[in-house]
Amino acid sequence: MVNIVYGPVPSWRLGRSLGIDATLLPKACTFDCVYCQLGKTIRKLSSPKELNPVIGVEELIKQLERKIEKVGPDSIDFITFSGTGEPTLNPNIGNMISAVKRLIPFKPVAVLTNSSLVYLDEVRNALSNADLVSFKLDAADQQTFEEINRPVANIPNIKEIIESIKKFKAGHHGILALQIMLVDSIKPDFRVNFKGEALNCLIEGIAEIQPDQIQLNTPTRPVMEKHIKPVNSTILSAVEERIKEVTPESEVIRVDEERVPLKSIKREKKPIEELRGDILALLKRRPCRAVDISIALGTEKREIEAIVRSMVKEGVIIEIRSERGTYYTYSS
Ligand code: SF4
Repeated sequence: MVNIVYGPVPSWRLGRSLGIDATLLPKACTFDCVYCQLGKTIRKLSSPKELNPVIGVEELIKQLERKIEKVGPDSIDFITFSGTGEPTLNPNIGNMISAVKRLIPFKPVAVLTNSSLVYLDEVRNALSNADLVSFKLDAADQQTFEEINRPVANIPNIKEIIESIKKFKAGHHGILALQIMLVDSIKPDFRVNFKGEALNCLIEGIAEIQPDQIQLNTPTRPVMEKHIKPVNSTILSAVEERIKEVTPESEVIRVDEERVPLKSIKREKKPIEELRGDILALLKRRPCRAVDISIALGTEKREIEAIVRSMVKEGVIIEIRSERGTYYTYSS
């Protein structure tokens, strides 16, 4: 059985988030972002009609019931559709959101989307029932958009995408967030988005949308293209100020402001085999350090360190050293 539900994982945006993978591996996406943590986009798709296989609502609910029973509803802050690709590629996403809300009505549902398909009426309708929809917006000019997000053919241009987000906002009663990844590069000719004309356009795009929340991020985990680097906190602060000037009503959340509610973590003793399965399910979705795994799974860090070391030796996962520590990722 393929795991559709994973976590809860600590999310700087949403606290402890129970993840739903609406597309499954290998990664199915409409983008091939230079900073993607999941490697190259293997299944490059441009429409929900192209996704195959499609996960059904019944299978999701079966797995979700089991997971909630196991972890307890108190250890979940959000139920989030994201996972290993673009969730709006799943044509069932609207029915899935409704079914999750019926099953666990007291927990908010979030969708993290790359915004590429919001121009479709059926996608806007499907997302309208979510409590929080977070749209990716790394650039608001076509050149930077193409350089950073590398959209597949048949995806609308960035101006149309921005118009579609505004259209969605007009009919949505929940929280509308923008997720912005600021990237630097060691390649002198790479069009970065944290300065110059690219930043001016991005600020204009954000001002046009006037989101409720802006999640300001920079890559902190190992990324797809080696030339991509995070921006420093001085740049993050400068961009944050520019954003606040044009969106006085919005909440701005930065990646370096940890929001994971550590208090809610339940420490529990689990059998090794179960832990190994949970670790693998987590690492298939994102690279993590031992401390991140420990928080996500509510298990002592020392125990996690011992398990990941043996999984590295066996070649099940691989180790990547970065400035923020040692990350572990799935060895596909
Ligand atoms: S970062 Fe998200 S949108 Fe970009 S390629 Fe990876 S999965 Fe797709």
